Amino acid sequence: MSRILTLALSKGRILDETLPLLKKANIQLNEDPQSSRKLIFETNVSHIRVIILRATDVPTFVAHGGADFGVVGKDILMEQGAQNVYELLDLKIACCRLMVAGLVNEQLPLNRRLRIATKYVNITQSYYAQQGQQVDIIKLYGAMELAPHVGLADRIVDVVDTGNTLTANGLQPLEFIMSISARLIVNKAAFKVHHTQLKPIIDDLAAAL
Ligand code: AMP
Repeated sequence: MSRILTLALSKGRILDETLPLLKKANIQLNEDPQSSRKLIFETNVSHIRVIILRATDVPTFVAHGGADFGVVGKDILMEQGAQNVYELLDLKIACCRLMVAGLVNEQLPLNRRLRIATKYVNITQSYYAQQGQQVDIIKLYGAMELAPHVGLADRIVDVVDTGNTLTANGLQPLEFIMSISARLIVNKAAFKVHHTQLKPIIDDLAAAL
């Protein structure tokens, strides 16, 4: 069965590295998504269209068939769990590290549990559980770096690339949790039903790495 396949891309930093990779695999968007307000794009390949989503929504769209396949960070997949999708390729782009960070030269409290601010609640929970340490986790959606300065948290858990954001905010990386890179995920049912259409695209992406 031949039909238009929908590829979900994560917007932001990861998109800057995904578009050149797609180009190498001979897939080009008909318009520049960086300078457009559109969320859905045709490509030079008539049976592939691209949708641009918040990174955290990419696994949801792919899992429920709103997209056949997608590009998303391993951090999001680990945090949300990846039901109903296959993780087919490590695209080796948007590489960074998930780290614990804290204020430079700070004394930690001894009379209470550590407070950790993060948007990665599940990963942080299991990281500290593995260390046998009970912590209180404070869920934030952004500006984690502020939390230690205003007494909201003792530590943050966030993705670090160059480390410039931490340094600019008086923080330092303290503990490495995991390496992160972007992954190609595919809806399990689509992978079976549209295998003949998806296979050459996946092969071209693998060859482009
Ligand atoms: P940096 O200053 O280069 O260490 O970048 C840190 C900030 O950029 C973090 O707060 C993240 O929000 C964001 N960031 C860096 N790399 C990535 C990535 N690969 N995926 C998503 N966000 C990233």
